[in-house]
Amino acid sequence: MNLTDVDDRTIAAAVGKGVSLREHVDPFARAFEEDRDWLRIRPPHAQPRATEYVDAMIEVIQGLLDRGVAYKGEDGSVYFAIARFPAYGRLSQLDQRELRAGASERVSTDEYAKADARDFVLWKATRPEDEAVGAAWDAPFGRGRPGWHIECSAMALDLLRRRWGVDVLDIHAGAVDLIFPHHEDEIAQSCAYTGKDEFARVWVHGEFLDLAGTKMSKRYGNILTARDLREQGVDPGAVRHLLFNTHYRQKLDWSDTALSAAREGSARLGAFRDRLALAAGETDDPEAAAAADRFRTAFAAALDDDLNAPEALGALHVLVREGNRLLDEGRRLGPAVRAAWGLADEVLAVASSARARTVAAEALTVAEEDGIPVRPPEVPPADSADGEAWALRWAAVRATEKRKRNFAEADRIRDLLRGAGWEIRDRRDGAIDVVRDGR
Ligand SMILES: [Zn+2]
Repeated sequence: MNLTDVDDRTIAAAVGKGVSLREHVDPFARAFEEDRDWLRIRPPHAQPRATEYVDAMIEVIQGLLDRGVAYKGEDGSVYFAIARFPAYGRLSQLDQRELRAGASERVSTDEYAKADARDFVLWKATRPEDEAVGAAWDAPFGRGRPGWHIECSAMALDLLRRRWGVDVLDIHAGAVDLIFPHHEDEIAQSCAYTGKDEFARVWVHGEFLDLAGTKMSKRYGNILTARDLREQGVDPGAVRHLLFNTHYRQKLDWSDTALSAAREGSARLGAFRDRLALAAGETDDPEAAAAADRFRTAFAAALDDDLNAPEALGALHVLVREGNRLLDEGRRLGPAVRAAWGLADEVLAVASSARARTVAAEALTVAEEDGIPVRPPEVPPADSADGEAWALRWAAVRATEKRKRNFAEADRIRDLLRGAGWEIRDRRDGAIDVVRDGR
């Protein structure tokens, strides 16, 4: 996973703020890592930054000049000559676009119209604003800075060669809007340089995220960030549950309805995890072992089928439903179900981080005064660390009211707790689960 920390936009923003490129970019890189951790995404093995790989970029560009597929324009910049690379356009089915090769039709910005293909810039001759923010380097073909497209190719090739001695990626990922021209240009410059037929064996392109039916875009002002969700107290397990519920090749529609369904699904899984931890024994009931086996098969088949996460998630819910039923029947779940759960949790990590407390029926007693259970305050404690004790006391009051057949009051208490983020689930043996929801 690379960080293209020098391009037209970052330079313009640094100039606007009067800071160096590095000073402008670093807070974004840090925020990205924080969001990534919050979303339970493991850090990549390597996270190269473009500005630390300029030597590798210069080497690739020089190689392309030597092979005659790049040329220096009279503006001092270096361009890739798409006419010299016959395979140009294979990834994005370029025959639908107009090919505009040659010096009069080239483009020097990092992005250009999707409707036509032009010679693209590999190295941009330096401008005063680049120098001002520290985005200029010396090269045999003149002082300047890399174009955006070359950054990915050069970083990937450098790491692949040094670590594994190869120059073709197994899988290259990106969003659909990068297919053209960005990934097309990556292929052209990489393959022209390495002489290989392909730059990546498999391309994986994720579809867009819609917000309540409209494309999420800065232009429409309907942006929702991971940071917003975190600040709203949304459980990262619920976010992942929502994301995995749509195949990556399909547009994902983010809505309040989808989020609340995801919260419910994620909380159900979290509650099972807690039940399993409490109930898991040394051996599995044969039915439990069979359910774990069925899960493993279905889970692997779904993910092997072009990462069909919605189906994998469905298989997990089937396992949890069967596991809950067996636990309700007093049967044993053991190492087979634990291992199956562990696999799902490692791959999908969709369970809510909420934790459940199970309280046995005989512990659900509460002092009474004149035949009325003594109640804790209606308002939850300001310090959330005291919240669980408060919820447990209310849960005991509710159990007492239920025993006295004061069902309306018992329901009122359930709603009171729900409003404070606590869910009470009755169990068949009279015990209850007190669960903090995923907010
Ligand atoms: Zn890229």
